[in-house]
Amino acid sequence: MPKQPRKEPRKKPDNSVAFHTNMQNRSDISTTQTVKKIFCRKVPKFDCNSNRKTAQKRKRRDTGADLTVEWIKLPNSVYYNSYKFAKVGNIYINQGDNVLVAPEENDDPQIAHVSYMFEDLETNEKLCHAHFYIRGKDTILGEESDPKELFLVDHCEDIPLQRVQEKVKVHKSEFSRSWHLDGGKDSDEKNKNETNDNGDGKDYFFSKRYDYNQSRFIDFIDNESRCISCFWEEEENTFNTPIYREKSFPESSYIEWKNEKYTVGSAIYIDYEREELNIKPKEVAEENYYTLENLDGDWVWMTKLDRQIIFPERYRKFEKKYESEYIACEPYTVGIIEKITANNKRVSIKVREFYRPEDIGKGQYGDPYLLYWTNCIYTIGNFKKWSEVVKGKCYISNKEHISDIYQWVQEGPSRFYFEEFYDPRTEKIKELPSDAQNIGSKRRRTVGGYNAESAVAWPTLENKLNCLDIYAGCGGLSDGLEKSGLVNVKWAIEINEAAAKSFQLNNPGAVVLQENCNTILSLLKEGKGQSVKMPKKGEVDIIVGGPPCQGYSVINRFKNTTNSNGNNSQIMTYLGFIDYYRPKYFIYENVRNFVNFDKTDYLKRTFKCLLAIGYQISFGVLQAGNYGLPQNRRRFFVVGAAPGLTLPKLPNPTHCFGRFQRNIQSIKVDKFFYDIGDNAMGALGSLPRRTVTIRDAIYDLPYISYDTMTTEMPYNDDGLQSHYARQLRQYCNKSDVVKDHECNPVSALIKKRIQMIPENGNWTDLPNVAITLEDGTQTELMKYCYRTKNQKENTAPRGMCQCVQGDPCNKTHKDIRYRTIIPWSIAHTADRNAEWKNVYGRLQWDGYFGTITTNPEPSRTQGRVIHPDQHRIVSVREYARAQGFHDEYIFVGNTREKYKQIGNAVPPILALAIAREIINAVLTDKRKKNLQNLK
Ligand SMILES: [Zn+2]
Ligand SMILES: [Zn+2]
Repeated sequence: MPKQPRKEPRKKPDNSVAFHTNMQNRSDISTTQTVKKIFCRKVPKFDCNSNRKTAQKRKRRDTGADLTVEWIKLPNSVYYNSYKFAKVGNIYINQGDNVLVAPEENDDPQIAHVSYMFEDLETNEKLCHAHFYIRGKDTILGEESDPKELFLVDHCEDIPLQRVQEKVKVHKSEFSRSWHLDGGKDSDEKNKNETNDNGDGKDYFFSKRYDYNQSRFIDFIDNESRCISCFWEEEENTFNTPIYREKSFPESSYIEWKNEKYTVGSAIYIDYEREELNIKPKEVAEENYYTLENLDGDWVWMTKLDRQIIFPERYRKFEKKYESEYIACEPYTVGIIEKITANNKRVSIKVREFYRPEDIGKGQYGDPYLLYWTNCIYTIGNFKKWSEVVKGKCYISNKEHISDIYQWVQEGPSRFYFEEFYDPRTEKIKELPSDAQNIGSKRRRTVGGYNAESAVAWPTLENKLNCLDIYAGCGGLSDGLEKSGLVNVKWAIEINEAAAKSFQLNNPGAVVLQENCNTILSLLKEGKGQSVKMPKKGEVDIIVGGPPCQGYSVINRFKNTTNSNGNNSQIMTYLGFIDYYRPKYFIYENVRNFVNFDKTDYLKRTFKCLLAIGYQISFGVLQAGNYGLPQNRRRFFVVGAAPGLTLPKLPNPTHCFGRFQRNIQSIKVDKFFYDIGDNAMGALGSLPRRTVTIRDAIYDLPYISYDTMTTEMPYNDDGLQSHYARQLRQYCNKSDVVKDHECNPVSALIKKRIQMIPENGNWTDLPNVAITLEDGTQTELMKYCYRTKNQKENTAPRGMCQCVQGDPCNKTHKDIRYRTIIPWSIAHTADRNAEWKNVYGRLQWDGYFGTITTNPEPSRTQGRVIHPDQHRIVSVREYARAQGFHDEYIFVGNTREKYKQIGNAVPPILALAIAREIINAVLTDKRKKNLQNLK
């Protein structure tokens, strides 16, 4: 029976529990007209052929050379060779006109803005300075774009006026003052932009600048007096070019770069060619004779033949190459500017290098905030190399001057401390020289020594933004945003009961609706939003969320029909919320593969909707590991800003992670690559800090086993807390206990297998033994009856099914064994699946987590989930640590539901990094406003 809307008055919601509105779930999509029009339109493709034909026709007319060009009227008074009017053939061109320009190659004519016109005094050539637009189809929107929509790009050129073919109209779309309240209206407003297409192809509109390098669509302020593309280029050059500023006191001279000052005493990241760190898995030579083997707790001497029989799958480790997942690049070297000198304009900079714990043999993964003072000096002799070598600013202090080092390093970006002097020549630790001792001291020293800079703190906001989290899950995204100080999470919608309750428990002040987002949007559109405590238009400053994307085949259906009944596309609902509320900012999150859904149509239509509503957008794939998480997790993000605001950037990576990080962060759409366009990532792939490891993430959590019944217990505090653990424990009291430190029970067979996996091992380390399990059942032996094709002689048979010889698998399944310690189906398919190296894989203390999924199962193939040295899978709390949840964050539901909530979440630490960029954008706008008020 279908649910009926309830009739009795709704009870006042209990603030400790998310409330269910008990609304009828509507199966049709709730969204707004703008969104619907773009997502549901029938075969949208414009006719490329007709365009091409006209282009060819024009081209013939416009080889151009025979056209006469004359100047009209007198030269401008300011520059005697500059002109405001010209006649090209029989067309009159004014400065400021938009024109079609004959293409240089076999392509459509280009569209350009005539910034100014002038005569080359040497060649007498009549030229115009053209600033180019690109067509929507040449952006990431591709064929989904409106054929009338143009984008301004950073490209201008002096071209001969003969190349001008004709004038065209290009309107700038402006957004009304009441834009933020106009959302969701089913008006024809957008039609203003869609100019009457009478087929002459001469009317276009635009509103945004397209920045391919940074993957952004952004607003800009037009500058009537000059070419804005030249202005952008100049601005960028000024920003990127270091300038030496000489002062009368040599020690006060400084370098100005990227809006920052670098003086003697400034600490910097430097990146120069080093031998690539290549941590290969240890090659263990398989000995021919006796080895001591651990067999279910007993140490047994085994011969090579014994080993082949007891561990029949282990050969896979030695004969086939495993590629380590944990190959990471080295972080930047930290240095402090010791001296800046200039002789005959030749600027040279002496930098004292610091060493990291790794550099002095203190293990692979030392304290990522700790440095050693050294007597190594690196000289940047060629000032032109500055931008290649210097990767930005950091802040250092002698530990002596800081009361709580763990707190201090969390309070701002790029902070490091040191307490010892390491001499690489003698490999000895020495006492710090007095210069070094004073670094970080509150007492300012001006004479001699370093005038070290005090560390900057994270930016903060006076007025936090009101946040609505949709598809909120248990609240990972919201949590990171709140901890950054960007938002107050006031409203959240989440359909899953346990997740909604978790959200409410951790955000007692928020209105949490346990409901379908679709249903809530329909209510809003009917004007009934307040009945469920939803905000009014204008009350939401930021909307965040990641709609689940199971419905990527939906568009295919729309392609053949405009009827959207019965389809349920969460992305359209998400966009509907954005259009309805029109918040100042939004954050959209999805799986990395969102990009490829429906051959990238989904992505393009999403962008098209957001642009049509008026938003500026930054997009890209962020790798959680690059932002200080011990996890390989790539997610697609779009950050948007309302028209006229400063568009936040996506955050620059801060932590080394993986070897091919650059490539895997890019997305490819229609043959073009897009990435987040950061400047900080060096060519060598170095970044400020090392990878966060599993040791950092979970070492301080207490021992548990499957028999541990309690889920709350004291921490394992032996003074070995990592910075990461301290960061996640910063909101806990000293007396606090670990919560949610529990794991899913497993069957006796799986439990036994886990027990038998050695450190760093996986399923290939399991012995082939018949034993009695703790539930009294018996395991069966695997039978290896077939020799594989390329098996060496005098080795025991390795195939357990006749398919290893190229025959089809036995139809009667006579080869299959059940309840074997070595999982039969895994061994059966291992050859075809890169040995299934993660199956029953133990996590490695010095490695990181694979992508956290909604259900950690050791027999699954996605990632290792067995604890590094305890005989169990990772606990809920360990899972939460992998996702960067603070320890005070607790979860509602049974163990399975808790894992699922965590697996579905956006890592709070990643959300924090995004939030800080939004804070920067808010502050930029605030400064701009203050400046305007001064004027
Ligand atoms: Zn220009
Ligand atoms: Zn087979």
